[in-house]
Amino acid sequence: MAEKPINEYTQVEAQSEVDALVARLNTWRDEYYTKDAPTVEDHEYDLQYRRLQDLEAAFPALVRTDSPTQLVGGATDDDLPKVPHPIPMLSMGDVFSLEELQGWAERLEVGVDQTVDYNVELKIDGLSLSLVYENGKLVQGSTRGDGNIGEDVTKNVRTIPDIPQTLPEPLNIEVRGECYMPKAAFAELNASREAEGQAIFANPRNAAAGSLRQLDANITKARKLATFMYTVIDPAQYNLTTQHEAIAFMQKLGFATNPTSVVAKDLATMDDYITTQTADRDHLAYGIDGIVVKVNDLALQAELGNTVKVPRWEIAYKFPPEEAQTTIRNVEWTV
Ligand code: NAD
Repeated sequence: MAEKPINEYTQVEAQSEVDALVARLNTWRDEYYTKDAPTVEDHEYDLQYRRLQDLEAAFPALVRTDSPTQLVGGATDDDLPKVPHPIPMLSMGDVFSLEELQGWAERLEVGVDQTVDYNVELKIDGLSLSLVYENGKLVQGSTRGDGNIGEDVTKNVRTIPDIPQTLPEPLNIEVRGECYMPKAAFAELNASREAEGQAIFANPRNAAAGSLRQLDANITKARKLATFMYTVIDPAQYNLTTQHEAIAFMQKLGFATNPTSVVAKDLATMDDYITTQTADRDHLAYGIDGIVVKVNDLALQAELGNTVKVPRWEIAYKFPPEEAQTTIRNVEWTV
């Protein structure tokens, strides 16, 4: 029998499904973000999250404060020191087809009443990282945590070879980006864990998160992590006007930045990038789980601002499930 459409649900029926979805998704969030040990594929999570979003849109009174649609990331690890993020580290909205992407861009351009240039980037499959420099010296590295409070991983990031300890200029600056585990390092790590009878990691993303969020920096060092930085906080201070310039600026400062990003002035260029990068993804040395489309003009980004959870000026185009590369195995997790 076909499922009843949401607009025919009674409030009581909707409430019971919302409650069940919130409980299930929050369990999965805890496994994924806090324990670095997911038990379901991302696509399954995304499907149920979408269902919750649809129910909440139809029944706004049922939006709970503990709903995953209102929360970024997960709880921080009790054993790691905490770092506040005065500028929150947010999540990102997503679309699952080119039609949805086009709809997002059209709505955005109608909203701002102008055509918009986009910077199109790879969505690196790792975890967000913030790096703070004072007088050009690295003073703090932290994870996103719940968006407002992250974990202090300064000692650990000092062991990651592509993160500069000192910048060529004595800048006070915060940059953000993705910490990831290259595919080769992931294969090597899991092979050695398997040989030693240890639990293996489900995917490079969880391996990167489990490796960065360690109490012992020597463990992080041995895990061969790498980074791509993609955000400059307070970019006007460095006379940056576009996202594309911000990436070039970070590269000049010595950060690892992804070389593939392009400015797209129209949907056809965006489509081309998505088609090429989707076809090439198996050849990359690192995992990607989609493409990120960002308004290129940084002043326009600031004008568009954020919702409680996501910036309005960027969207993730997530790869279709048949191309999803993560594998959840039935293993015991000891990180
Ligand atoms: P997200 O991973 O979908 O997107 C936001 C993140 O993308 C940013 O925080 C940043 O770290 C990253 N990113 C990578 N490349 C980027 C780039 N070029 N520019 C900007 N950001 C970039 O959002 P999220 O809130 O981190 O996680 C939600 C997703 O996590 C879900 O859609 C789901 O796929 C997965 N998840 C899975 C489970 C599970 O149990 N399998 C549980 C919870 C979440």
